[in-house]
Amino acid sequence: MARVRQKGTAPELAVRLAVTSLGHRYRIGPRLPGRPDLANQTERWAIFVHGCFWHRHSGCRRTTTPTRNRQFWLDKFAANQARDARVIRELRRRGFVVLRLWECETVDRAKLQRVLLRFFERIGQSSS
Ligand SMILES: [Zn+2]
Repeated sequence: MARVRQKGTAPELAVRLAVTSLGHRYRIGPRLPGRPDLANQTERWAIFVHGCFWHRHSGCRRTTTPTRNRQFWLDKFAANQARDARVIRELRRRGFVVLRLWECETVDRAKLQRVLLRFFERIGQSSS
């Protein structure tokens, strides 16, 4: 399985819809570190929608580890996690407030809406 960056997967679409419904504008996959799924450079926020398997959502049932070629997978996952941490650090250094959403958190739309609402309240942009 190649690490293909798919645009417009169901979790991403759910997040876009929710963010739009909260009245926020954004760009999709802008030229920022790690290419956040959604970001607004003026409001200084970025959102990643991470697949639980690839990005290792801790304690999630989707975060399985293939038993074949185990070391290959462990190395790959470690590299993904290191990259995620690096990218988030870099964005924060540039003054962005970063939200990382897991794909499993996008299934329940009402819950997703609440998480996003809290996020936008936190960055003080909820009235825009
Ligand atoms: Zn998960």
